[in-house]
Amino acid sequence: MNTEAKIVNGKKLAAEVRAELAKKIAAGGGQPVLAVVLVGNNEASRIYVRNKQNAAQEVGIKCEIHELPADVSQEKLQQFIESLNQNPAINGIIIQQPLPQHLEVLPLLKLIAPNKDVDGLGPMNLGLLMLRSAQAVIAATPKGILKMLNSTGVNLQGKHTVIIGRSNIVGKPLAQLLLNQDCTVTLTHSKTKNLPLITATADIVIAACGCPKMVKASWLKPGAMVIDVGINRSPEGKLCGDVDFDEVFDKVSFISPVPGGVGPMTVAMLLENTYEAFCAQQEE
Ligand code: NAD
Repeated sequence: MNTEAKIVNGKKLAAEVRAELAKKIAAGGGQPVLAVVLVGNNEASRIYVRNKQNAAQEVGIKCEIHELPADVSQEKLQQFIESLNQNPAINGIIIQQPLPQHLEVLPLLKLIAPNKDVDGLGPMNLGLLMLRSAQAVIAATPKGILKMLNSTGVNLQGKHTVIIGRSNIVGKPLAQLLLNQDCTVTLTHSKTKNLPLITATADIVIAACGCPKMVKASWLKPGAMVIDVGINRSPEGKLCGDVDFDEVFDKVSFISPVPGGVGPMTVAMLLENTYEAFCAQQEE
């Protein structure tokens, strides 16, 4: 297999998803509207939000950024989300994380109307995912990862998939999503013992732990598929994932790069979820 064919190119896949969405939005009446709630001045959050807005504009989705001060109270923020829920002109709502320390995210996620929860991180949508309901809004990063895995043409049924990281936004919903695809899933985390021995039994390894270049070739079985979710800075200041890409490359059958892998797919899936929410709301 040549080098290019081994790479799960999230950037290219995401561009295809966006082009498809742009076509559908241009053909149908009306413009979907996404509301992004941004609290405080986190620099990285600002960049992420700007990227989402640019991508939304490109496909014909209006993306409103609602900036609230870093010291906003929980109550004020909840009232604000309630007002977005009530506003029929808004189809999707997301809260950019992380939030300032004094704010609790769970009451906010509980508050977002499930049909506007386009990040799929609220309890209703996570529950529907667990129950394998077609109505579940699937969280953007896991949804993007599944599309990336499917793009390889490999049959996922029965594949031992080891996920590194059990966060509410990546590891946990991803484990459920892949279980629904008949993968055999092992969900690991910072307290897992002998992690390299566990990953060495995996057909698919998905790293989402935020540890720069942690996964080495010795952690993998020959021909494993690897999806790298991590976004880190190496000591030299370069963007890198949780997998040591150069070191593992010859051993794997497929691998996603950082940057240009899961990141652009996450944004594309958020837009897809917003479009789907818009369509469902037109029918209500
Ligand atoms: P998090 O900090 O919420 O969770 C990290 C998880 O990794 C935890 O469950 C923890 O137990 C586990 N972990 C930490 N150190 C470990 C270790 N040494 N061994 C095994 N497990 C370990 O992080 P998150 O929000 O899930 O994000 C994880 C990474 O993915 C970060 O680098 C983040 O920037 C990136 N991320 C990327 C995207 C994207 O779109 N590409 C989206 C979300 C997160």
